[in-house]
Amino acid sequence: MDLVLSVADHYFFTPYVYPASWPEDNIVRQTVSLLIVTNLGAYVLYFFCATLSYYFVYDHSLMKHPQFLKNQVYREIMFTVKSLPWISIPTISLFLLELRGYSKLYDDVGDFPSGWIHLVASVVSFLFFTDMLIYWIHRGLHHRLVYKHIHKPHHVWKIPTPFASHAFHPVDGFLQSLPYHIYPFVFPLHKVVYLGLYVLVNVWTISIHDGDFRVPQVLRPFINGSAHHTDHHIYFDYNYGQYFTLWDRIGGSFKHPSSFEGKGPHSYVRKMAEGEFNSLAENGCKSEKLCNAEFAKTK
Ligand SMILES: [Zn+2]
Ligand SMILES: [Zn+2]
Repeated sequence: MDLVLSVADHYFFTPYVYPASWPEDNIVRQTVSLLIVTNLGAYVLYFFCATLSYYFVYDHSLMKHPQFLKNQVYREIMFTVKSLPWISIPTISLFLLELRGYSKLYDDVGDFPSGWIHLVASVVSFLFFTDMLIYWIHRGLHHRLVYKHIHKPHHVWKIPTPFASHAFHPVDGFLQSLPYHIYPFVFPLHKVVYLGLYVLVNVWTISIHDGDFRVPQVLRPFINGSAHHTDHHIYFDYNYGQYFTLWDRIGGSFKHPSSFEGKGPHSYVRKMAEGEFNSLAENGCKSEKLCNAEFAKTK
């Protein structure tokens, strides 16, 4: 986070906002700046990526599913907009620790004898480490004593859209992001790589809510994609993972996505539309205009 903050200080805060007497390493100034930068960054990332995904990836036919709620997109967005500032409060306390040098984040690839190999290995270990912790945290959030208080709001959306990706109770949102913050306090990680991974995990979170269930055949057994996560929203006790199916397989909670067997929400919507059309046809298509409209909708 110090990379982002030093850019913000250099181009904006120092010349235009704060008095010259307030040093850049003052902890109150750092806290205020982190609050602004973190919230702004979270909103920009959420709205930019979720909007792109909603218009260019998300299959809008899913909105005809009977479990798609009235005004759902608006409600997902409003829930997220209200939650993000609360999530940012505990988050910035961790960013502050990073900023003040308590993490193992480093600047120079040359800090390690085999710097580039270490860099690649850290990306792989970051993904596996955070996937494992998110799995257990998410599974814990489904415990009956916790679920209804913290995690239930995220399961209101049975047929999620990309805008549901960050629609969490603040405690839920923070807990599920905690593994990303813990990693650089336990393992050395390059600052630029960390920033890249942080953006990437947020984009991934959006992508598993985008209703696009395509995964390359060869990766299907390993990747926890949108098809898996949509089944998690519908059936609750399966597919808690984030990127991989590994921990669901180890933990006995893996479910082969219903969409891969032609029984997912897309097929349901299609059959529903065909059913409507057939019933009109069976009734002799009393109104030709109505029949044509239904047929176009089905197509
Ligand atoms: Zn869940
Ligand atoms: Zn979800």
